[in-house]
Amino acid sequence: MSTATEQRTFDSLNPASGVVVGTHPLHDAEAVGAAVESAGEAARWWAGLGFERRKRRLLDYKAVLTQNLTRIATLVHEETGKPIGDATLETVLAITHLDWAARNARKVLGPRRVSTGMIGLNLAATLEYLPLGVVGVIGPWNYPVFTPMGSIAYALAAGNAVVFKPSELTPGVGALLAELFTQSVPERKVFQVVTGLGETGAALAGHPGVRKVAFTGSTATAKRVMAACAANLTPLVAECGGKDALIVDADADLGAAADAAIWGAMSNSGQTCVGVERVYVVERVYDDFLRELTERATAVRSGEDYGPITMPAQTDVIRRHVDDALAKGGKAVVGGAESVRPPYVDPVVLTDVPEDSSAVREETFGPTITVRKVATLEEALEKSNAVSYGLGGTIFSGNTRRAMELARAMLTGMTAINSVISFAGVPSLPFGGVGESGFGRIHGADGLREFARPKAISRQRFAIPGMNLTSFSRTPADMERLVKLVTFLHGRRKS
Ligand code: NDP
Repeated sequence: MSTATEQRTFDSLNPASGVVVGTHPLHDAEAVGAAVESAGEAARWWAGLGFERRKRRLLDYKAVLTQNLTRIATLVHEETGKPIGDATLETVLAITHLDWAARNARKVLGPRRVSTGMIGLNLAATLEYLPLGVVGVIGPWNYPVFTPMGSIAYALAAGNAVVFKPSELTPGVGALLAELFTQSVPERKVFQVVTGLGETGAALAGHPGVRKVAFTGSTATAKRVMAACAANLTPLVAECGGKDALIVDADADLGAAADAAIWGAMSNSGQTCVGVERVYVVERVYDDFLRELTERATAVRSGEDYGPITMPAQTDVIRRHVDDALAKGGKAVVGGAESVRPPYVDPVVLTDVPEDSSAVREETFGPTITVRKVATLEEALEKSNAVSYGLGGTIFSGNTRRAMELARAMLTGMTAINSVISFAGVPSLPFGGVGESGFGRIHGADGLREFARPKAISRQRFAIPGMNLTSFSRTPADMERLVKLVTFLHGRRKS
């Protein structure tokens, strides 16, 4: 990454060739402040449009994105190095989410009457979810359309304006998403992009005009962003890294499980937050599964099936994890230390890697996978849950009931059964993690509510004589009636 701070611009590079893809402004705190300020004004206008008119604009934006699919996918390919097919897939998924958010915002967030209970019999209670104002979105480079759109689409549908800081590796994609938005919403700056390095993101997170920050990126950066948010008590949704496990049951379709494991681990060069990094296989089928897996892994080609490592420094992490695994007694059944040849990393399958090694405990974010034999599903679950991350996970099993039980017991936000990462493509399912994988949810109804404030309104419809409890004119007889009522309603024990 070459930067030219003195010119207040920086370049994004093609990670495969090193060729400059684009040059972008290095927005400082002042520029970020100006963006947030104009976004505040735009937010009021956008909120005033109401659900129906916002929906029409967002569905139009969806159509604009779809018409520009090739242009977007090509730029994603150039800035990240991923194959055009993968870039197209992530854009299609983002479009699907935008569609869902636009169509469901009113149903999820709009005003509704809620029950008041016996004691509030004379009240009408209304619940609705109002926009927050300006939402700051900070995004990573690995899925530069799908990942930020998981916050942007839902924040916009909830009636907020967005200021988006894309990763310094993919600023062009971010700028294009905002540029295309102006075709559907030309009137106000409802969706803006600020570009730059980490400082630009820090200025956004620490700006008092930002009412919520949606951060996606590494756990280490999330902690810095959270500290910046603390200054203004700005709430945060943090979508961070993972170390997802795939469990293979004795009656699983082993070919399908191996296929899913390889794709989950190697697609996008393993640079997927919900990518498969660890596999636990019950011993009865371990040898057969490993055969299926190695056959498939040997056929996968870096530079063809997946691209280069987008962030150059990541190859050092991948090398360190592979070296550590091998030094601690692990075996490389496909590839090995020599597979790390920047900017590419060839597929690496590691077995017998001790559970305390970095390849098992830390996010590798490369096309590598560890496979371990376990005696039982319980052991597989225990090992899956023994890391500090808790983002996603996968189970392959022939028994739906057992798979569902395992899925519930996995300490993660999402689990896919007999498929891999399938939850990410279902817009009505919330997406997010626990532990070091972060908190809060994007996608689905929870994702819409994440970018809104619940507004509770209680309205007295009529006065109940003798039950004026919130008044100094209240009498002991009023309280007696209340105690009688509560005893009738709540005083009976049921064993
Ligand atoms: P980083 O944490 O390095 O960066 C994420 C974003 O934060 C970038 O835009 C970055 O800008 C910005 N940033 C850096 N420093 C600061 C700061 N001090 N204050 C505010 N913003 C800052 O993550 P990566 O881009 O490397 O993304 C990879 C990580 O993202 C992996 O851990 C992956 O698992 C995770 N991820 C999680 C997902 C999820 O949904 N849970 C989805 C996709 C990825 P800059 O690039 O300019 O440094």
